[in-house]
Amino acid sequence: MRIGLFGGSFDPVHNGHLIVARAAAERLALDQVRLVLARQQPFKAGRHGATAEDRLMMLRVAVRDDPILVVDECELHRSGASYTIDTLRELHAERLQDELVLLLGADAAHDLPTWKEAEAIPRLAAVVALTRPGVVVPEHPLIDEAIGVPPVDVSATGIRARCARGESITDLVPAAVARYIAERRLYREGV
Ligand code: ATP
Repeated sequence: MRIGLFGGSFDPVHNGHLIVARAAAERLALDQVRLVLARQQPFKAGRHGATAEDRLMMLRVAVRDDPILVVDECELHRSGASYTIDTLRELHAERLQDELVLLLGADAAHDLPTWKEAEAIPRLAAVVALTRPGVVVPEHPLIDEAIGVPPVDVSATGIRARCARGESITDLVPAAVARYIAERRLYREGV
C-alpha cells in the first residue's frame, strides 16, 4: 500500500485539511491518508484551544464515511511533545511492506528543517509539499516534490476566532464538526 501521513493539531479539523488530503491522495495514487493527530504540537506547546480528546472526536466524525481518510492515534499514546520522526519510525516498523509519503502544507514545509531529526525523515518517507493560499512553497533538499492542491483559504486559527466572536463556521468545517463544537461550546474564550 501507498500510505500518506498528514499530521496536524486539527484544532479543529476543517475543510482545508480534508480537501487537500483527498486531492493529494488522488494526485499521488495513495491508498490511504492517515490524519495524524498531534497530542502536543511542539511549536504550539500549551496553546491548543481544545483538548486532544475533543480534537480526536472531531477528526473521527469528520472522516466517518470517508473511504481514504483514516484517523491515526499513535501520537496520543506517547507522552510529551509529538514528533513526526517517532511516528514515522513506529509506522515503518509496523508496515515494512508499505510505502510512506509525508504530506506537508506549505507552512509546515517551511518549518521542516527545524523538526527533530529532520534529516532522517527522507529515509523513512517521501516528502511532498502541498500548496496553501498565502504561503510560498519552499524548496529545500528535504522535500522531494511539491504538488498543487485546490486552494482553500481556511485555517483553524480563523475558525477559533470566529467561534470566539459567536460567528458561523458552517461553510468551513463538516456539519458534524460544527455540531460538536456548538454542543461542547468549544473555542468560546478565544485562543
Ligand atoms: P492553526 O491555524 O491552528 O495553525 P492550521 O489550520 O494550520 O492550524 P494544522 O492542524 O496546524 O491546521 O495543519 C495541519 C496540516 O494541514 C499542516 O501541514 C498545514 O500546512 C495543513 N493545512 C492546514 N490548513 C490548510 C489549508 N487551508 N490548505 C492547505 N494546507 C493546509
